[in-house]
Amino acid sequence: PVGLVWLRRDLRVSDHAALYHALRSCAQVHCVFLFDAAILAPLPRADRRVEFIQRSLESVDAGLRALSGHAEAGLIVRQGLAEQEIPRLAQQLGASAVFANHDDEPDALARDARVRRALEAAGVALHTYKDHVIFERSEVLTQSGSAFSVFTPYKNAWLRKLNAFYLSAYPVERYAQQLAPRPEGERRRVPSLADIGFEPTNLHELPLPTGSEGAQQLLADFLPRMADYGEARNFPAVKGPSYLGVHLRFGTVSIRELARLAWNAAAQEQNPGAAVWLSELIWRDFYHQILSHHPHVAVQSFKPAYDAIAWESGAQAERLFAAWCEGRTGYPLVDAAMAQINQTGYMHNRLRMVVASFLVKDLGIDWRWGERYFAEQLNDFDLASNNGGWQWASSSGCDAQPYFRIFNPISQSEKFDGAGRFIRRYLPQLAGLPDKLIHAPWLAGPVERAAAGLELVAAGTVPGPASYPRPLVDHAEAREKTLARYAVVKGAV
Ligand code: FAD
Repeated sequence: PVGLVWLRRDLRVSDHAALYHALRSCAQVHCVFLFDAAILAPLPRADRRVEFIQRSLESVDAGLRALSGHAEAGLIVRQGLAEQEIPRLAQQLGASAVFANHDDEPDALARDARVRRALEAAGVALHTYKDHVIFERSEVLTQSGSAFSVFTPYKNAWLRKLNAFYLSAYPVERYAQQLAPRPEGERRRVPSLADIGFEPTNLHELPLPTGSEGAQQLLADFLPRMADYGEARNFPAVKGPSYLGVHLRFGTVSIRELARLAWNAAAQEQNPGAAVWLSELIWRDFYHQILSHHPHVAVQSFKPAYDAIAWESGAQAERLFAAWCEGRTGYPLVDAAMAQINQTGYMHNRLRMVVASFLVKDLGIDWRWGERYFAEQLNDFDLASNNGGWQWASSSGCDAQPYFRIFNPISQSEKFDGAGRFIRRYLPQLAGLPDKLIHAPWLAGPVERAAAGLELVAAGTVPGPASYPRPLVDHAEAREKTLARYAVVKGAV
């Protein structure tokens, strides 16, 4: 039989569940990636994620040729609607089955249900597999058989269930001879960005190599640093984390490979960071199973009582939100973090927590606004983790920060960027301030400002090369307002 592997968030040719199952059960296997019109249409024409995908597809295309040894093998790339294009291609190729990996986001599940119906109407089966996480859906449950909503017991159960089997790679290479040459009319190169109607971004200027090779490069860079991860990951000016988030998002690296490395390293006493890093990978599984069991979180609070909170609204909310998005809140750590996401599509985890807390608990803006902005900007945007992070910060989520714990943006700055190295990188106009003032420039007197060549301008003003706005809100006042705003959830669980 002929099989068609439909790649989505799994853009690699090694250790790939769907590809492995297709190769094992079909004599001839083709691979397709679809630029899905429903996903691409609303995006801006310059989007780093689209460029990342396009480049990573070139690597998949070359990878398939190398793996099969056929000069005519490679990736088939289509554009259009999945429920039309996938069945059409399956029929053209004479495929009896389509193989894909699970994607449990609500829109993806709905799309897959439509594709399944269209395929079945044409007599083609759709087989889907777990690939994106170590444990999915209902694989890790409480003793009473319900889904966990608290991380630590989930993590303990996850670790108890784990064994080498769940971490082993799918040996795709063993069956590579089943990869079929592409039919005559399909032997085209991967479409360029322009071919799909997109423009280049600044991706090539960023330290973000694409494709499986890019993931391996970042991994090789991270492995010697893993032992220090527990400490180093907290400081945004330090190269502490792996920067592999986007590769996990698009599957240019296998989660099994990463979890295996972390699990083995965690077993060694001299690698304390490995257990911490593994724990972060478990958070990723945790939020995926939360989304799978509670799909309402995509639009509502995990804890329903939190939907009664009255957020800022109208022109005032729009004004505050725009200042946050554009990094002119007057709080340097927040503004530097927003500059980081706007310029690179990445934001350090500590800063994601700080800016999310600031938007919700200092500016009183609905967490969904911030979630949407991150969804537009983050290279590693992932519905489950992004929603989990935002609901954690707004206290509306499962196992979230209690609502009365409100980050102080100045003490966070002093603690995690004490010498202002991160702030100076993204806000050069503050570079001349002494360390003790860089976290709260409005405290600088005229002499200190003159010495630093800095002018303080009105709150919310767009800063120039030598100016910086005064704070948009007073943190102590905002804190009181937030406690009052959250009073509606007192006693709620
Ligand atoms: P590392 O520190 O090297 O961690 C390795 C991997 O573990 C990450 O790539 C990620 O896949 C996973 N991970 C780490 N921390 C978390 C976490 N708290 N929750 C879930 N998974 C985690 N992560 C995303 O992948 N996509 C998002 O859209 C996203 N949005 C977030 C929004 C907010 C408000 C917050 C507070 C966190 C968010 N995170 C998100 C989690 C985390 O910030 C990023 O995964 C991490 O910063 C990515 O950088 P890294 O790859 O260098 O991570």
